Amino acid sequence: MKAAVTLGPEHMELRSVADIEPGPGQAVLSVCVVGLCGSDVHLYRGTHPYSRFPTIQGHELSGVVRELAEDYDGTLSVGDLVAVEPFIPCGACIACRRGHPNCCTNLAVLGAHVDGALVERIAMDVNACYPVDQLDVETAALVEPVSIGLQAVVRSGATNGDTVVVIGAGPIGQAVVLAAQDRGASVMAVDLLDNRLALAAQMGAEVTVNTSVHELAAEVDEWTAGEGPTVVIEATGVGRLLRSAVDLVAPSGTVVVVGISNDEVPLSVATFTRKEINLLGSRNNKGLFGSAVDLVQRNRDRVAQLVTHRFKFDETPEAISFVMTHSDVAEKVLVVVQDGR
Ligand SMILES: [Zn+2]
Ligand SMILES: [Zn+2]
Repeated sequence: MKAAVTLGPEHMELRSVADIEPGPGQAVLSVCVVGLCGSDVHLYRGTHPYSRFPTIQGHELSGVVRELAEDYDGTLSVGDLVAVEPFIPCGACIACRRGHPNCCTNLAVLGAHVDGALVERIAMDVNACYPVDQLDVETAALVEPVSIGLQAVVRSGATNGDTVVVIGAGPIGQAVVLAAQDRGASVMAVDLLDNRLALAAQMGAEVTVNTSVHELAAEVDEWTAGEGPTVVIEATGVGRLLRSAVDLVAPSGTVVVVGISNDEVPLSVATFTRKEINLLGSRNNKGLFGSAVDLVQRNRDRVAQLVTHRFKFDETPEAISFVMTHSDVAEKVLVVVQDGR
């Protein structure tokens, strides 16, 4: 079967690889659609801590169940369309033992530590496969990035009556907007690009602010009548924007960091006690993948709008370099491995 193999930094080729059979507790899926994201670019460039070569990338996928392990007696059936949760925790480390497998210290991530979804067929643990019969192959592949945004919102505790500022309107920021408004919060989306902000409005943002034109603090002040937002979710990883989040949030409010970078951030220690800020990180999702399926199913048409570009499987190398060079116009870029079910 065919796979898009990353052979070295910025070098991907379609190659023939050995076919697979389901191991114990596994389903073999024919891969339908794979979403590409920022972490894929870092892995591809060789700048990600988990980069290794050769590797098969891809962790945001939909697929159709083709084979099940012989002794399988669960509810999955051959022919089911599924979304896949791409994390394999160890079950033994301190985070796993405490019920936080999303922070597993030995976490195996599909498409990073273990070969991923840019391949015609893949074997997955049946428990990682979520039937999504009401979705199409594209929106099913968006459940994973939506689960990341949902985790950040659940971490924040945002609900009815909260004012939530979302910094960054890339795919994860968009998922944060969607999940926050779904829980009844009022949302302000912040970005430098109008096309992304228009999309955030579609996801349910009440207000959008382009910070290449407007001053964020003044806009937030006006929106919250000077009180500050009760929640700020940082989805860019830019250090100075985390600093802004801490400065903007209301006393007793919550800042959640879901963006990633190696930036260092100078913060006044006094801020934490003076405002009694809750400053939380957010990683993967903790038991929320089923809720993410539900969120996507209830908002199928909105979520489908996140897709800006599609590439054929044979064009996967072009797709990843497109994501790398077109972050201004690319929101969610998909590789269609197999069209339809
Ligand atoms: Zn991703
Ligand atoms: Zn673990």
